[in-house]
Amino acid sequence: MIAGRGQSILVLLGAPGAGKGTQAGILKEKYGLLHVSTGDMLREAIKDGSETGKAAKGFMDKGELVPDGVVTELVIDRIAKPDAAKGVILDGYPRTLAQAESLDASLGKQSKKIDGVLFFRTSEEVAIQRLTGRRVCPKCGYNYHVTNMPPQVKDVCDKCAVPLIQRDDDKIETVKNRLTVYNDKTKDLIAYYRKAGNLIEVNGDLSAAQLFDDIAAIFRREGIVK
Ligand code: AMP
Repeated sequence: MIAGRGQSILVLLGAPGAGKGTQAGILKEKYGLLHVSTGDMLREAIKDGSETGKAAKGFMDKGELVPDGVVTELVIDRIAKPDAAKGVILDGYPRTLAQAESLDASLGKQSKKIDGVLFFRTSEEVAIQRLTGRRVCPKCGYNYHVTNMPPQVKDVCDKCAVPLIQRDDDKIETVKNRLTVYNDKTKDLIAYYRKAGNLIEVNGDLSAAQLFDDIAAIFRREGIVK
């Protein structure tokens, strides 16, 4: 956001495993923005047994996309809540051209627009290594990685002391399908946002700390988030 302009809206775009969620966590801490992850919201909905969760589960288990209308409604509702007033980081949304167009239309009606789209360019090998090595605490949701960010005790959450689990969709076959879906449906958004003039490319293969330094420098230079 340029100071005084209202809600900042940032989009994180890139393949599964490009490091969007990790950077979103850091950006949230450093800039006080709300992290809106459609994947996390859908996993919550499944845990709660809600209608949205029931509609989403079959798609998610296979690594397919949940229908556009379901996710768009979740996002539009969430970014209108009071705790989103300073700004939001959209992580994993939009993922199709239809979602991108719905988002633009909905923001346009409120005289808002996207401030920047960070595109995390990454190699497929790095993405696969990150996703298949990811382990999650079933209690607090914290993410670890078997080699890149291991817990102090193997396979046990540092904070909750419960055994870590692997997300079903982080298993190799589903990971491969998620990457195919990304190549088929989400990659088109790179050209869409480049044309709109707000695509900012970053190197998703860097370590989390190095990448954050690069992003912070871009924000300072471009005056995107204060
Ligand atoms: P993620 O945690 O972002 O990798 O998302 C996990 C899964 O949730 C995806 O593989 C999709 O099944 C579903 N999902 C998350 N975001 C979206 C979206 N914007 N559109 C459709 N499906 C989504």
